[in-house]
Amino acid sequence: MGFLSKLFSTSRSPKGKTGYVRREGKTAVWIYVQCGKCGEKIPVRLRTTSELQRREGPDAQLGPGMFFVRKTIVGSQCYQRIEAAVEFDFKYDVVDSKVVNGRLITYEEFTKNDEQ
Ligand SMILES: [Zn+2]
Repeated sequence: MGFLSKLFSTSRSPKGKTGYVRREGKTAVWIYVQCGKCGEKIPVRLRTTSELQRREGPDAQLGPGMFFVRKTIVGSQCYQRIEAAVEFDFKYDVVDSKVVNGRLITYEEFTKNDEQ
């Protein structure tokens, strides 16, 4: 891929993967992470109005998403600090994610009972 086609693809809004986000009206979305230490599945509410930041200006080139969030999550079963950095498209679907000490899971994985 040449320089121009690369530039072209990054200037387009990438399409996110569905299944990771549940929307709560227009004001919030939920994402789900699993603790890498104890396996606890943790729902995380993100306010679209204040916690999700729009990638614009100098931030626009720093990640693939239209919105992004960085959040430290601590579950109730252990004190592991899970550092999540998630990129979203314009519909708040997940474009990319980096989770330290855990992983991003889909809503389906979150609701699935592991004991069965
Ligand atoms: Zn844990």
